[in-house]
Amino acid sequence: MFDFKKSPMHDRIQPHSTVVVIGAGASGIAASEKLLAAGFKVVLIEARDRMGGRASTRLVSSVPFDTGASWLADSQVNYLRTTAESSGVKLYPTDFNRALVQYKGVNVPINPTEFMKAVERRMALPYIKLHIREFFGLRKTLPSMASMLDPLLKKHGAQAAYARELMIVNEADNLDQTSIATLLREHNLPGDDGYDPLPTDDVMVDGGMQAFVTSLAKNIKPSLGESVEAVIRTENGISVQTTRRRIDADSVIVTVPLGVLKAGTIRFDPGLPVEHRAAIDRLGFGNEKKTCLVYPDTNWAKEHHMVGLHDSTYFNFMVNVAAIAGKPMIMALSAGNKLIAADSLSIDELAAALHANVRATLGSDIPDPIDHSTTDWGNDPYALGAYSHSSLKTLGNEAEILQRPIAGRILLAGEALSDRNGYVDGAWNDGQRAASAIINA
Ligand SMILES: Cc1cc2nc3c(=O)[nH]c(=O)nc-3n(C[C@H](O)[C@H](O)[C@H](O)COP(=O)(O)OP(=O)(O)OC[C@H]3O[C@@H](n4cnc5c(N)ncnc54)[C@H](O)[C@@H]3O)c2cc1C
Repeated sequence: MFDFKKSPMHDRIQPHSTVVVIGAGASGIAASEKLLAAGFKVVLIEARDRMGGRASTRLVSSVPFDTGASWLADSQVNYLRTTAESSGVKLYPTDFNRALVQYKGVNVPINPTEFMKAVERRMALPYIKLHIREFFGLRKTLPSMASMLDPLLKKHGAQAAYARELMIVNEADNLDQTSIATLLREHNLPGDDGYDPLPTDDVMVDGGMQAFVTSLAKNIKPSLGESVEAVIRTENGISVQTTRRRIDADSVIVTVPLGVLKAGTIRFDPGLPVEHRAAIDRLGFGNEKKTCLVYPDTNWAKEHHMVGLHDSTYFNFMVNVAAIAGKPMIMALSAGNKLIAADSLSIDELAAALHANVRATLGSDIPDPIDHSTTDWGNDPYALGAYSHSSLKTLGNEAEILQRPIAGRILLAGEALSDRNGYVDGAWNDGQRAASAIINA
């Protein structure tokens, strides 16, 4: 574990110092609020014209469409979930087991318990091996999710197909590109119900995730529409070059998405240390596309919360928002090969394909939708993808390396550095971690 008190940062950062925080997503908001409360001067810079980052909501014919994060997950360990509950926000529990899967032309109701037990059994040996390796301080890449799960497909058919579609979206990539690290994580976090692609109590947030995350910025006022171009180390501190100005600071917290760090959009002068750059390269940053249809009413809404679309070329599964939250919306998620196929269609073609799936699975008499929308995180310059995962190159020490302060003044933070990477609450926790590092110095 990095010993902060032995770092050069220890001598330089004092309360009342100026800290620039780059990015006003969950992580940047968390860091800024914590630093402000500890008496630091904070300048929060955000390239978009809004806060929230990948907690992002768009109104489609007045219905909130979460284009980024939709669920607050894992109630036992999710601080934001507790915050939402205590602040009285209306939450919509989603049961991923209340599902159908369209499998080889038939709609099959889901009971994936046996399949998930089989996954657990298959993970036992890799888990023991991992711990033996960790005991001897060895690091090694892990096998792919596909190599672990595909042999189960034959025996468990539709049930396995459904879980597999969910896992592709959870990883935001094909399962032959992602390692079993997320499955192993289940055993590593005490109190966590871990990697559970079939949760029963994840919640959607009334009004959308963006408004909720933005509401957590109680005191900080970000500068919006201002993009950071360079982080330059000077003799006495840090100089942050934005599209509008140069800001001198004692330290900086960089919370931009991993996709932005991979692309090198922000120039670091001198460059990031070799170890940090290698860790950024090894982590995977996948993509997820969401497409929604808005209907004239919810009269057709049935009991199923989820529909696995094993047979579809474009969608992994769809979310029956009408059954979950009483809003007349269907939202479909695409990742891996299905995202690539979806990207080849126009938005109208994609909406028509989705509506055909809705009718084939939820009711042939469902009326035509009145509106639709879709997302393109891969081409969003301030994200360049959706969220991180453990790629086949990952060694498991990437977050620990990336959390190390650089020259005692630069801290990276955000979703990809968290032990709950891929989640809003992970991003929040990691922003707080980076702020604590400065406060405790
Ligand atoms: C499609 C999708 C679905 C998801 N589903 C879920 C879910 O259901 N549940 C869940 O918990 N999580 C989900 N997530 C993940 C979750 O949204 C993220 O983990 C979390 O929001 C990341 O927060 P962050 O603060 O680390 O990064 P961000 O929210 O991305 O914040 C970083 C900020 O940096 C800004 N920025 C970038 N470049 C610059 C620059 N040069 N200058 C200034 N600012 C810059 C960005 O605009 C952004 O606002 C999903 C994400 C996506 C994309």
